[in-house]
Amino acid sequence: MELAVLIIGAGPAGLATAACLSQHSIPYLIVEREDCSASLWRNRTYDRLKLHLAKEFCALPYMPYPPNTPTYVPRAEFVKYLDRYIEHFDIQPRFCTAVESAAYDVPSKRWAVLARDTVSGAEVRYGATYLVVATGENGEGRIPAIPGQESFSGEAIHSTMYKSGRAHAGQRVLVVGSGNSGMEIAYDLASHGADTSIVIRSPVFKGVSKIAGNKVTFERTTKHMLNNDGFPKKGYPDHWKGEDGLYFAGFARRGLAGITMDAKNIASDIAYFADPVSV
Ligand SMILES: Cc1cc2nc3c(=O)[nH]c(=O)nc-3n(C[C@H](O)[C@H](O)[C@H](O)COP(=O)(O)OP(=O)(O)OC[C@H]3O[C@@H](n4cnc5c(N)ncnc54)[C@H](O)[C@@H]3O)c2cc1C
Repeated sequence: MELAVLIIGAGPAGLATAACLSQHSIPYLIVEREDCSASLWRNRTYDRLKLHLAKEFCALPYMPYPPNTPTYVPRAEFVKYLDRYIEHFDIQPRFCTAVESAAYDVPSKRWAVLARDTVSGAEVRYGATYLVVATGENGEGRIPAIPGQESFSGEAIHSTMYKSGRAHAGQRVLVVGSGNSGMEIAYDLASHGADTSIVIRSPVFKGVSKIAGNKVTFERTTKHMLNNDGFPKKGYPDHWKGEDGLYFAGFARRGLAGITMDAKNIASDIAYFADPVSV
């Protein structure tokens, strides 16, 4: 299928980019490996989660939260907001489509993208003038290998699998990592009656090893556009634009506010440079 713009990932960054492209009347296709949009927020977050920043800093482009929304938006309300966003901008992601590779073809000046239908297993090929990678900074939950880990007889889970402290009342629990999630999960455990400890070290944050899980291999140009952690090599505020029509949405390490900026920048850039014939 030949496209003007292909967006990989229907999380907040992909959805925001789609909405911004619509404002410029630029056609696009958005593909998502899961069977739903915003899979992180629907399936891989804990019950207590609220947005960590006030709602003013967490709205996607062109759609504020309704006036009665709490300052710190609970997860379920954020998911509802995203559903309204999708409906409002008529975004129709192609679900169950996992991108496996993308290579820039110099003669045709187009991206050749190979994806897989995760239900049928069939290969799907796309050609696109512009490619927007919106696969998320927190692609895969990663538990680092710790020597002697196999001798631990208790349960060890990643925060993406954690739902509530209810199941841990009366247990001794160690939370490893003290970012927003680690802190909030420790609080949730303690308030449900778990004997909770938390490990804090400096530097606290460590990036994910790959931006899109272990299935995605970006050939040629992307090799030198991404660092070993799978983040764009160009630092903020230039991180969003690669070469040959390649863009990165949601890799500013600035949450939803960063996503909004990336989406607007990308859509304006494509609108500015787009050949009216190819879009
Ligand atoms: C627990 C938690 C709380 C957070 N709270 C806040 C907050 O309060 N405020 C704030 O501003 N930010 C917050 N963030 C940070 C950030 O806003 C979120 O991570 C946000 O979901 C990022 O959106 P995204 O679209 O970039 O990535 P994601 O939400 O991860 O979406 C990426 C999408 O791409 C899909 N995908 C990945 N690989 C492929 C592939 N190969 N082919 C097709 N699809 C693919 C994934 O399935 C996913 O649906 C939080 C993050 C976490 C983890």
